[in-house]
This record gives sequence, structure tokens and C-alpha cells, in this order.
Amino acid sequence: MIAIGVDIGGTSIKGAFINERGEILSRFSMKVDKEKTPEEEIGKLCDIINASIKEGNYEGKVAGIGIGSPGTLDMDKGIIIYSPNLAKWAGFNIKKFMSARTGLPVELNNDANVAALGEAKFGSGAKYKSAIMLTLGTGVGGGIIIDGKIYDGNKHQGAELGHMSIRMGGRPCGCGRKGCLEAYASATALIKDTREMMEKHPESALTEIEKELGGVDARNAFIADQRGDKYGRKLVRDYVKFLSEGLLNYCNIFRPEVIILSGGVANEGENLLKRIRRYLKKNTYGMRGSEKVAVVTSQLGYDSGKIGAACLILFK
Ligand SMILES: [Zn+2]
Repeated sequence: MIAIGVDIGGTSIKGAFINERGEILSRFSMKVDKEKTPEEEIGKLCDIINASIKEGNYEGKVAGIGIGSPGTLDMDKGIIIYSPNLAKWAGFNIKKFMSARTGLPVELNNDANVAALGEAKFGSGAKYKSAIMLTLGTGVGGGIIIDGKIYDGNKHQGAELGHMSIRMGGRPCGCGRKGCLEAYASATALIKDTREMMEKHPESALTEIEKELGGVDARNAFIADQRGDKYGRKLVRDYVKFLSEGLLNYCNIFRPEVIILSGGVANEGENLLKRIRRYLKKNTYGMRGSEKVAVVTSQLGYDSGKIGAACLILFK
């Protein structure tokens, strides 16, 4: 069986033909012009898909198209209700449109859920039955996979993993509440903290690292810490503490077999993971009686969205 996985982004759409082992057979992509109508743009995508099916001799072998999309969705009906980067697409029924143009069944889901599904099925979660994936990027997003299926609550409105309060009355969050994990554990939050620390302590190694890297991103604090800088150490210690508190909450509620981290900050790899594991071990509920939760980084990278979208069809 072959499925097509489509990953919709704000500036481009990427897709792939994927077999039941999660292997990418061929890829396609197109730029998105947000000034054009969704009918024009998705029409173009369908033309690309139809041509790729012919080219790859996939006629009769493709079971359907899975789509991962940002924004607010009506997943059951297949409608993009609102997407901040693609304002003209509001109310567009992508499922109906693509199904009519390609003759294939179409499934739509949220991009974060889909990426988590891809990692859980064919990435670093492949040997586990339950997984939580957390993406530490501009915001904190993610997905919950239980027994191989996406868990996202009533009308698919749940699993907002970044918007769990870890500090009552804490920092304001973009969602309107205060103290959310996202306000402490996103790459954006770490960068903001790094800049504040540099302003207060210009003598810190952070200042020279900014010059070396040509700016401030999620790496600066970790590099300063490795160089023995006490301000870098404080940034990393606080960051790990807040992130790990969030992960502990997921462990206590879901006790997944594995937590998968992705996004910019996850590039720190073992250096970050070993600190988190230490924190979780020390603070876990039920002490040694509780099942251990593995903490790993994602394996599929940018392909997790495409592979996960294909999983909507492969594991329907
Ligand atoms: Zn929030």
C-alpha cells in the first residue's frame, strides 16, 4: 500500500509518496502564493499529485492522501476554518476539493498531531505503543499518541501541550493565560531570557558567543554553559527545570512509554536529554515504583509531517 502525505506550511506545500514501512518513495513540493485563492493553489497541488501518480506508475496503488495543516480545522468535515498565514483559505473544504480532483480518499489533521503520529509510527517512537511529542520552537506544540492513535479530545480541540500552566500567575502567554509551559520552554522564551541576561550581565560569555554566532538563538545559553559561564549555566538550569516540570506533568497524567522532543532546542541532543532524565528520575511520582519514561529526540526531522500525514491513511 502507498499513501500520499502532504505537509502544508505558510510558504510552501511539501509532500511524498510513502509505503507501509514508512519509506519515502518520491517527493514533490510547491510554493504557496497566499494572495491566490485556495482553489487555485490546491488545484495546482492536485495537478502535481495526479502527474506524479502517472510518472511513478502508482495508478491503482495509492490508498489516499493525508494532510497535515496548521490553523483551526474541522477535521471531520475536512475544512480549514482559519489559518493565520493563509487568511484567504478560511472556510475552504480541502478534503472535498482534493477528493474530487484526485479521486482519492482524503484525511485532514493538525500539523502537530500528524508530526507526532509520524515519529510514533516510524521515527524514534517506533518501538513504543504510547508517545508524547513536544516541539520546542517558536511556540511549544505537540501531540499525544495512545496505542498508535492520535488522542486530541472532544472535537479534536485538546492536546494543547504548550498551554498547561506550570506557574500560577506567571509570565503572560500568547493564548491569554499566564504561566503556560510555552512562555518558559519555547525557543522564543529561551532567546528572550538570554537577551535579558546579556543586558544585565554584559561581562558574560554570552556576549562573545553572540558575536561568534552572529546573533542570539536557542544555542547561545547552552554554549555559554559548556564554557563554564555562570550566567549561561543559570539560563540552562532554569530552562531545563521549567521544561522538565511540564514533562513531569505529562508523565503523571499519561505515563507514556516515551517522550520525543523536536524543534530547535532539541538539537542540543544528549546534552539536554541527560539533564531532563536526571530531573525526571529525581522528581517522578511514586518514586521507583513508577514505570520509567524514555526521553529521546525526534528522528525524522522535517519528514515527520509528511510521513505522519501518510499515516492518517496507512493506519486508518
Ligand atoms: Zn498559553
